[in-house]
Amino acid sequence: MRLSRYFLPILKETPKEAEIVSHRLMLRAGMIRQQSAGIYSWLPLGKRVLNKIERIVEEEQARAGAIQLLMPTLQPADLWRESGRYDAYGKEMLRITDRQDRDMLYGPTNEEMITDIFRSYVRSYKDLPLNLYHIQWKFRDEVRPRFGVMRGREFLMKDAYSFDLDQEKAVESYNRMFVSYLRTYKRMGLTAIPMKAETGPIGGDLSHEFIVLAETGESEVYCHKDFLEKETPGLDVDFNGDLTPIVEDWTSLYAATEDVVDRADFEASVPEEKRIVARGIEVGQTFYFGTKYSEPMGAKVATSDGKEVPVHMGSYGIGVSRLLGAIIEASHDDNGIIWPVEVAPFHVGLVNLKPGDALTDPVCEDLYAKLEAAGIEVLYDDTDNRAGAKFATMDLIGLPFQVVAGPRGLKDGLLEVKERKTGEKEMLTVEATLAKLQ
Ligand code: ATP
Ligand code: MG
Ligand code: MG
Ligand code: MG
Repeated sequence: MRLSRYFLPILKETPKEAEIVSHRLMLRAGMIRQQSAGIYSWLPLGKRVLNKIERIVEEEQARAGAIQLLMPTLQPADLWRESGRYDAYGKEMLRITDRQDRDMLYGPTNEEMITDIFRSYVRSYKDLPLNLYHIQWKFRDEVRPRFGVMRGREFLMKDAYSFDLDQEKAVESYNRMFVSYLRTYKRMGLTAIPMKAETGPIGGDLSHEFIVLAETGESEVYCHKDFLEKETPGLDVDFNGDLTPIVEDWTSLYAATEDVVDRADFEASVPEEKRIVARGIEVGQTFYFGTKYSEPMGAKVATSDGKEVPVHMGSYGIGVSRLLGAIIEASHDDNGIIWPVEVAPFHVGLVNLKPGDALTDPVCEDLYAKLEAAGIEVLYDDTDNRAGAKFATMDLIGLPFQVVAGPRGLKDGLLEVKERKTGEKEMLTVEATLAKLQ
């Protein structure tokens, strides 16, 4: 992508309304634009990161056996009357009436709708286990939308729903999502700690919130320090096998949010020097809630001896759009964002210090073409902005590598390659640069 042809509306001033660093940096880097309280447009750079996060979520969901579909944002109120949540949900639900005077709502979550899909097609235990998910916009009319995409009103969520014959099988499904969550966040450069949590309006009795520690987080959390050094399950995890040992390992250390913490228990089970009392960002939550929806909504399957039983369900959310904020909170410095490679909007920023120059132009064009051909995403700054502004923009948008082509270095055939995370710079030939970026 050539910057001269791109749409990257960088803000020079720090927006006053932004209270936390991720919100400030997303606005300054031209990633999002607020259209109304808690409702954002995703500008091209923000959209690229959102796509990357979605891809990781999709890959890890598939690995764990979940199947993607897509449900609508608008739902009929009648489904929610069946479960009893239409009245219970309260003011967070955006209620709409269509021209036929039908009660509709903008979905805050999809337990009812997926249960309706399930009951319409699935009849037998032989079709289980089943896990269906989508990545779709949700609306919750939050009392206090704030911190940019962290607490939006419209936000993107991955929500998966598992269906099993009984509790034992349902816990196996729960464990698959649990383990896949550990992998999902790790791939984005985050350490998310599964914590005992309250179930809220989703319901049920087995639940974990996945929390990333950050000073700007909205929840207070209590956990064991060793979580920070724990090794994440690798690619060799067998999702068809027994995942209990991994889940037990990840739940044996103390970790709870303020809603459910038992301080005496915390102090008794964690030695003083290992105690973390900190703030955290909820980036996902898993629930097992048994027959809470299947029972009232009549989602039943036949068992092997022909009896009909309500199916056991769980649901599993990931805050896809919130993750952008969480990643930036965890990875930035005074100059801007530092994207982990897997979610970076581009891999490399190529800076032509002197467009129109007989030395820099051909080298940049050649390198740009070669990077593109090699499938390495590159943002080529071919504008005639000042050098200082170019460097500041590159640091702000936080691409993992910057390659600077200036007349001075190129006299000796050398480019400056800088790693954003470490700030380390080296002078390399075009060939060596290409090799390094592969
Ligand atoms: P919170 O406690 O932050 O209000 P929640 O517990 O109400 O979140 P869930 O119903 O568990 O949210 O939804 C699954 C995930 O969706 C959350 O873990 C979070 O990452 C994300 N999420 C929830 N509400 C918002 C929001 N208003 N803006 C952005 N992401 C959100
Ligand atoms: Mg909430
Ligand atoms: Mg919560
Ligand atoms: Mg939650």
